[in-house]
Amino acid sequence: MIDFSLTDEQKALRDMARDFAKNEMIPKAEHHDQTGEYPMDILKKAWSVGLMNLHIPARFGGPEMADLDEIVIVEEINAACSGMATAILANNLALAPVLVGSSDELLKKWIEPMTTEFKLAAYAVTEPGAGSDVASIRTTAKRVGDEYIINGSKMWITNAGVSDWMFVLTKTDPTAGHKGMTGFILDSKSAGVIIGKKEKNMGQRCSDTRGVTFEEVKVHKSQRVGKEGDGFKIAMAAFDHTRPAVAIGAVGVARTAMEHAIRYANTRNAFGKPISANQGVSFMLAEMARDIEAGRLLCWQAAWMMDHGYKNTYQASIAKAFCADMCVRICTDAVQVFGGYGYNAEYPVEKLMRDSKIFQIYEGTSQIQRVIISKFLNDGKGIEGPNL
Ligand SMILES: Cc1cc2nc3c(=O)[nH]c(=O)nc-3n(C[C@H](O)[C@H](O)[C@H](O)COP(=O)(O)OP(=O)(O)OC[C@H]3O[C@@H](n4cnc5c(N)ncnc54)[C@H](O)[C@@H]3O)c2cc1C
Repeated sequence: MIDFSLTDEQKALRDMARDFAKNEMIPKAEHHDQTGEYPMDILKKAWSVGLMNLHIPARFGGPEMADLDEIVIVEEINAACSGMATAILANNLALAPVLVGSSDELLKKWIEPMTTEFKLAAYAVTEPGAGSDVASIRTTAKRVGDEYIINGSKMWITNAGVSDWMFVLTKTDPTAGHKGMTGFILDSKSAGVIIGKKEKNMGQRCSDTRGVTFEEVKVHKSQRVGKEGDGFKIAMAAFDHTRPAVAIGAVGVARTAMEHAIRYANTRNAFGKPISANQGVSFMLAEMARDIEAGRLLCWQAAWMMDHGYKNTYQASIAKAFCADMCVRICTDAVQVFGGYGYNAEYPVEKLMRDSKIFQIYEGTSQIQRVIISKFLNDGKGIEGPNL
């Protein structure tokens, strides 16, 4: 049976996230956008009220939240400020491959402490020479006795500068393509980990994005995530969890842009009437509402499938591609509704338009989502929809 209603628990989560967004995030969003200052206090509060580390299993003291529960929260905090939200949610991204591939021993040592202490983590996969083409990464991990020695560099790593640990994807067998890849948990303070400068990005400016270099970094074999050679498989499986969450973040940003556009269109007069009285403007608003509703349902579907044990790669890519593209379009249209004021940093939609662009780039670009969707179609899968 299809049921689109949220449970009482999900409504409570949404209301808690909405209150946090309203009281803690929105009042400081402009300041952090203008200064690029990392919102550490807000992250600490987010951790203390239970908005971080959402999937840590209950047996390690975590909330073991379902993906659908998570995305109800993620929409709300992105609607407030997606720069802060990216910083808050980076732990979920780093945890995803670790939870997919790790032994209980590894989880006990590295993950359980995150439920009692405020700790930050980063997901370090992209490199200066390889982003979409993950199998072409060049960071190596060479086994020497009970340790591996890691050399190489990563690029665009969210929370790298503030992290306690990183999930790092390496090549343990550079001759074996994607089958020669292995992930590790690495202490960010290890000797030989060199953290680069904070990058100046177009949007989501308070989020911490940096390059990281590894020079002869020693990591014990017990910090390996899964088996040697399973790294690519683990990193890709993690995307099935994280893409619906990134996609709903785009829904949150688009929703805020639409709300501003509706308010403005009903108060701004031209030719003796509110601009919303023109079909050219009201249709723009109607299309925003249409696409936000459609995007949210795609995200809910992809998350629901994961929670119910179905493989959701196809639906997660559709949600990510649709929502990211829709978010950029809606934020651009919101600027259009505001006219000249929309182009000005004193008005809210300028930030939203800058913030929106990254949704088409991180967690697999909009083109890569289309590559995945096409592959399903060309293999004769996916056309039937959820195929439950
Ligand atoms: C703010 C920010 C935060 C990020 N956070 C993280 C993080 O925490 N951890 C992490 O590991 N990475 C992170 N990334 C990296 C991000 O995931 C990559 O930038 C992204 O995957 C694209 O890789 P690339 O930049 O190397 O572009 P490329 O892979 O070089 O792509 C360049 C262009 O070519 C297109 N293209 C490439 N291959 C194909 C193809 N087969 N078909 C069609 N088009 C193609 C792409 O779509 C894109 O338009 C972040 C990036 C940014 C900007």
